[in-house]
Amino acid sequence: MGRIVRLDQNMVNMIAAGEVIERPASAVKELMENSIDAGATAVVVTVEDGGRKLISITDNGEGMDRDDLAAAFESHATSKIRDTSDLSGITTLGFRGEALASIASIAHVRAVSRTPQSDQANCIEIDCGDRQSVGPCSGDVGTTIQVRDLFYKTPARRKFLRTANTEMGHITEQFTRIALPKDQLGLTLIHNGRELYRLSGSLALRQRIAQLFPMLEADDLVEASTDEKGIRIRALLGHPSTSRTNNRFQYAFLNGRFIRDKFISHAIKEAYRGLLEPNRFPVVFLFIQMPYDEYDVNVHPTKTEVRFYNSNLVHSQILATMREKLLGTDLHMPARLPS
Ligand code: ADP
Ligand code: MG
Repeated sequence: MGRIVRLDQNMVNMIAAGEVIERPASAVKELMENSIDAGATAVVVTVEDGGRKLISITDNGEGMDRDDLAAAFESHATSKIRDTSDLSGITTLGFRGEALASIASIAHVRAVSRTPQSDQANCIEIDCGDRQSVGPCSGDVGTTIQVRDLFYKTPARRKFLRTANTEMGHITEQFTRIALPKDQLGLTLIHNGRELYRLSGSLALRQRIAQLFPMLEADDLVEASTDEKGIRIRALLGHPSTSRTNNRFQYAFLNGRFIRDKFISHAIKEAYRGLLEPNRFPVVFLFIQMPYDEYDVNVHPTKTEVRFYNSNLVHSQILATMREKLLGTDLHMPARLPS
């Protein structure tokens, strides 16, 4: 008799959760992304105890009907892609169909959802993979997902949770990464009953930056934009004198998705060459729009890494956009630029 057995589905989901849901902030990211993919114009994020006790996300998006609400928590279940050809041009933030199944395998989840066509909401409860109930309940159009006691049956993971303050720092960072490129979206973040951010969907990007980063002088950021060779770039650039000792204030977004990319980091560094002391990092907000089929996001489960098919072009466009602006702006810096 062989020793190999196929793991049951709940085990599979729990293992997958290890990749996607590292800490409460990862659940916040996945749920907020789902709200955006559902076309929400307003999202409220409520957390308690740094997300360890409760994460609750309410949106006014398209909602789910009863069947979809049940299917949403199956693993590899998604409404966003259908076949392999869809993988080469993903326009949504999600597509793997794993987040809800993963979260529901390691927490107590309650979801309420209602479509605009229905006068009744439906509700489902799942406790660490155990479906407890699904049925009609009251609720507005849109979706609310509540996640309680993340990792309460996975002590190995729970051990790695940090203090509420630290976890809240990670949540705020995820919230910021989602909020920056979505300046049309109303977003609220509440922790332990206290409102940390209330971002209106009708203010300019610069004001959103000012709200998220009160410590930066958002008005002083220099703005550059180009639209060439199929790549649209909008960059808000910090004065060299506001540079930092780390890259915490460098944000890059590709078609509304926060990404980390070594070509982009390099282009930023090059653009400021000669303007900064060694080991200093400029404040940079970079928004890139380009065709969805010119890069691959299916690189890592958290999707913060992408592969550009023409990374040289992306690099040179970013560098040129930023460099030209920086050199053409009176930065009140001593003239010591390299030729
Ligand atoms: P993915 O986002 O990769 O499709 P998820 O597990 O995050 O996978 O979600 C599964 C499905 O549940 C989504 O494809 C979507 O159809 C539905 N869904 C999840 N969250 C929402 C929401 N807030 N509003 C409407 N539909 C949702
Ligand atoms: Mg998702």
